[in-house]
Amino acid sequence: MRRVTNFSAGPAVLPDEVLAQARDEMLDWNGSGMSVMEVSHRGKAFTRVAEQAEADLRELLQVPDDYAVLFLQGGATMEFALLPMNLSAEGQVVDYLVTGSWSKKAAKEAASVRKVSVVADGAPSRFTDVPDRAGWRLDPQAAYFHYCANETIEGLEMHEVPDVGSVPVVADLSSTILSRPLDIRRYGVIYAGAQKNIGPAGLVIMIIRRDLLERAPASLPNILKFSAHAAEGSMLNTPPTFAWYVAGLVFQWIKRQGGLPAMAERNQRKSAMLYQAIDASGFYRNPVKPAYRSWMNVPFTLPREELDAVFLKEAEQQGLMNLKGHRSVGGMRASIYNAMPESGVAALVDFMADFARRHG
Ligand SMILES: *Cc1c(COP(=O)(O)O)cnc(C)c1O
Repeated sequence: MRRVTNFSAGPAVLPDEVLAQARDEMLDWNGSGMSVMEVSHRGKAFTRVAEQAEADLRELLQVPDDYAVLFLQGGATMEFALLPMNLSAEGQVVDYLVTGSWSKKAAKEAASVRKVSVVADGAPSRFTDVPDRAGWRLDPQAAYFHYCANETIEGLEMHEVPDVGSVPVVADLSSTILSRPLDIRRYGVIYAGAQKNIGPAGLVIMIIRRDLLERAPASLPNILKFSAHAAEGSMLNTPPTFAWYVAGLVFQWIKRQGGLPAMAERNQRKSAMLYQAIDASGFYRNPVKPAYRSWMNVPFTLPREELDAVFLKEAEQQGLMNLKGHRSVGGMRASIYNAMPESGVAALVDFMADFARRHG
């Protein structure tokens, strides 16, 4: 068996230990003679898995009691539509900060539900910078303020939570959740698709201040209401049980690594190693303003486009996989989520230096 070094942006690498445990428990989970995905989501055994996963996530992120934790499905994209439906009423405005492809998509989807006001748009910088805070057109009456903390495609991360006064902050943390400690109290809602930093695709984690659950109009179908999911422990219908179980294994793995402070230190070291190699090379380039460079997704270009295919082919020969950048940005992108070991980044940096020597 050969495990490669997987820089995929998502679905993305999971810790070997987690995959090995899932494998070992696949046919006979907990001495039940069944797989975890073959049992009732309402049975005692799965209930324990679900509750433990929530408890571990609450511990990792230090989630206060007045926030609900939901395990939902439909991807982060589903939340793009459900957030305005649940958190705002007809006639209200919702504020969106556009800093890259994902926040742009979120704003577009919300616009099919509510009147969206774009607070500021980073498109003129080609999403390499965040528009100056002084120029943001914030509406103090907005139902909420939405932003994407880490733009997975452009590799642009806002390392601080924006201060927008008393308007609740709603944050898409799909590609940065659990990479560092967070102050949950700064947010009204955070949400994240699982397939970047948590576990298998199909699961979305949402952490929502309980008073916001009450905002949904009564006319909204139950299955679309965050409050109904919260009231039923995210088991209004059958949840993605296997994904929930694997997410729980990942939470326990993070705890064994020393929790989020340890993840943050490691992630900062990994990204610094890679950015330093890019900046010092005189060969590779990352266009993002240093203050907003992502810890998780590191795009970079080569001096000549015709080198891209050679780079990818030689990287693959060394087991360095999935480095092709998003088609909208071009070049390369190394996604270095929690489960990417420092040795994986070191191997990439060594390969990049050698490639630059041969082609520079
Ligand atoms: C991947 C991603 C999404 C979309 O997730 P889906 O699960 O495919 O809906 C949304 N936002 C961000 C920041 C992402 O990285």
